[in-house]
Amino acid sequence: MAEVRQAYADLRARGFACGCPVPPFEEVFPGTRTCGYARRRGEGGEDDFYCLPCAYERERADLKTALKYTAYLSIEERGGRAWYVTTWPGERLAEVTSIRRSVKHTWAGLKPWLYFRAVDLHGQAWIGQGEGEGTYCRLRRARGRA
Ligand SMILES: [Zn+2]
Repeated sequence: MAEVRQAYADLRARGFACGCPVPPFEEVFPGTRTCGYARRRGEGGEDDFYCLPCAYERERADLKTALKYTAYLSIEERGGRAWYVTTWPGERLAEVTSIRRSVKHTWAGLKPWLYFRAVDLHGQAWIGQGEGEGTYCRLRRARGRA
């Protein structure tokens, strides 16, 4: 808990780079895996803090021009299971359109691995891979539009 208090004190001292007010402690650290702010590497190489709505807006803007992207995979149960590519706090970036289960050879042996195709919020096609739900995935832009 001390680390979290210290992180909040740092956040209050530096403020959000987007200029939005820093919410109360309980909102920033609600006790779930998600904290109420995002970090992004700033111009000077140090991380800047952003509120989540502004961070999401920037991620969506980045996605438009990026050729490679790192995000997270999540499953939503909504009349069947559907896979999505999301930000760390779970905001949607792309919908997975097809998925292929495979294995990856690592120094420790084989591990389950997913290869997928996705279409982002801008209608752009991506090819991705990752370990599974709740873990990071890497994407690269597929040729042409979806
Ligand atoms: Zn903001």
